[in-house]
Amino acid sequence: MSEHVIILGTGPAGYTAAIYAARANLNPVVIEGDEPGGQLMLTTEVENFPGFPEGIMGPDLMDAMKKQAERFGARFVWGNAHSVDLSKRPYRVIMADNNTYEAESLIISTGASAKLLEIPGESELIGHGVSTCATCDGFFFKDKRIIVVGGGDSAMEEATFLTRYASEVTIVHRRDTLRASKVMQDRAHNNAKIKWVMNATPLEVLGEQNRVTGLKIKHNDSGKTEVLDTEGLFVSIGHRPNTAFLGGQLETDKVGYLVTDPQTTQTNIPGVFACGDVADSRYRQAITAAGTGCRAAMDAERWLEAQSEKTVVS
Ligand code: NAP
Repeated sequence: MSEHVIILGTGPAGYTAAIYAARANLNPVVIEGDEPGGQLMLTTEVENFPGFPEGIMGPDLMDAMKKQAERFGARFVWGNAHSVDLSKRPYRVIMADNNTYEAESLIISTGASAKLLEIPGESELIGHGVSTCATCDGFFFKDKRIIVVGGGDSAMEEATFLTRYASEVTIVHRRDTLRASKVMQDRAHNNAKIKWVMNATPLEVLGEQNRVTGLKIKHNDSGKTEVLDTEGLFVSIGHRPNTAFLGGQLETDKVGYLVTDPQTTQTNIPGVFACGDVADSRYRQAITAAGTGCRAAMDAERWLEAQSEKTVVS
């Protein structure tokens, strides 16, 4: 049976698309992924999502969005899409367990994953001093020392932002030259609160009693190791949009983010829409993802209506 619309991914973009599509009587099927709720399931308190003056825990926000979508009839399927066939309509979504779903339109909201250092101590301390999002978590580091790892624009931006809260921010970069654009480098260099440890490789995140106490690094020139004391570690080494399952069938930019029409959420394939972080390297906020999820559902609804009008006419 061919569905009207399948939504792939369940961060704020996917859930919002599901709420709007369900309320538009499109009876959406939502492929949840292996980690339903996306990146917000990894954060603690979300303080910048409008409507929650006291803040809300990331997992609670995601749970509420899911319940809201279910209330209007969205159907959820647990598991990951393994691949898709966009060569003709109805489009096919093939699951990891080989189950197949078909739909006239798709909304891709599979998000992006922050890259991690993959060193000992890191994953255990995520949410307890290790973070990949300065905007989300910077506020919790008032007057504390923070390390930011990375040498790109994101690391410069996050480090500069974190100086609003932290007593000191140390940027640790693995080479002796930065990848970041000159303007972003200059901004960081001109900030008196930012210190630099260049040409150093992070080896281990140290912690005790569920909180970060330090970062062990190796100085690449001398081979010597050192422990930098810190209360927070922001890993800012880039994001990876989750598009591997698309097998290159949709247009991406040079980094791999899906490209959409500037006015809408339409991808290069008619009836396939993209929203949230998988198509956004710039804002990457829960609220912006939710906003584009709404747009994608409205775009899908209008597109489906236009197709049925064409069928009636012909
Ligand atoms: P990026 O440009 O890919 O930089 C990633 C940085 O992390 C690089 O310095 C890289 O080191 C380092 N790195 C990667 N893997 C590492 C590892 N395993 N261990 C230690 N260091 C590691 O990513 P980004 O900074 O997130 O930027 C992504 C895109 O968004 C860029 O096009 C950027 O210009 C754009 N952006 C723009 C703005 C802005 O204009 N306001 C803000 C943020 C991002 P190497 O340099 O040695 O490879």
